Amino acid sequence: MKKTAFVTGGSRGIGRAIVRELASEGYAVGVNYLKAERQAETLAAEIRERGGAALAVRADVSDREAITAAIRETEAAFGPVDLLVNNAGIAQNDLFQDTPEELWRRMFAVHADGDFHTIRAVLPHMLHEKAGCIVNISSIWGLRGAACEVAYAASKAAVIGLTRSLAMELAPSHIRVNCVAPGVIATDMVSGLGEETLASLMDQTPAGRLGRPEDVAKAVAFLAREDADFITGQVLTVDGGFIL
Ligand code: NDP
Repeated sequence: MKKTAFVTGGSRGIGRAIVRELASEGYAVGVNYLKAERQAETLAAEIRERGGAALAVRADVSDREAITAAIRETEAAFGPVDLLVNNAGIAQNDLFQDTPEELWRRMFAVHADGDFHTIRAVLPHMLHEKAGCIVNISSIWGLRGAACEVAYAASKAAVIGLTRSLAMELAPSHIRVNCVAPGVIATDMVSGLGEETLASLMDQTPAGRLGRPEDVAKAVAFLAREDADFITGQVLTVDGGFIL
């Protein structure tokens, strides 16, 4: 029987690569999106055409009722979620003193509250089964900090704290919780930074290139593997050596 995965922010960028990777590994995938309906539906259709199973489900991860309903819709189609990937995210670029309070709250609503809502929705079944896997996407900025992205970095650091603490709490129930912290990955999120900034970020990356969404997707798939059974509470950086 196919296992079920639910990927938040699966419509574009890193999330889309994660959806493709998990589908290729045989998961039936709930593809959550917020605005990019066409991309999410196209992705789900592409997977179904290849013989896989996927369902595009719209919800704002910060809205508990909406994201819980999206998870339930996925479960009604494919069965309870075995693997949850909290990938949905938004970026910022402003000085701390210019950061509107609403933006500060939105960062935490999407990154921290979003993870809280999705995990709470899938956990009862995982606890009942004494099995399950959760992978949260943080960022190297959540580990190291970043100027002009204080709210982003702080909310991504919260994701790391959540990951480690919850991993300790859930390990006796055989539920693993890990985190992937990407470096600079070529997606829409960074495309607005401009060529000069991207070239400078590439220069600072020992591997000499920007990351690809697939680099992160492979790391998520690795952490989800059954033979990664003894790995929990970890933050796996996928950054070409950026923060070494
Ligand atoms: P993109 O901007 O390319 O994609 C973001 C995705 O998140 C989209 O699918 C978007 O959906 C979804 N999303 C945003 N807000 C919400 C919400 N409230 N509810 C549901 N879905 C939402 O970003 P990336 O692919 O680059 O980033 C993916 C993750 O990786 C994020 O958590 C990001 O912080 C993290 N990351 C990215 C890095 C990078 O360099 N790219 C570096 C480090 C971390 P839709 O389009 O449908 O609205």
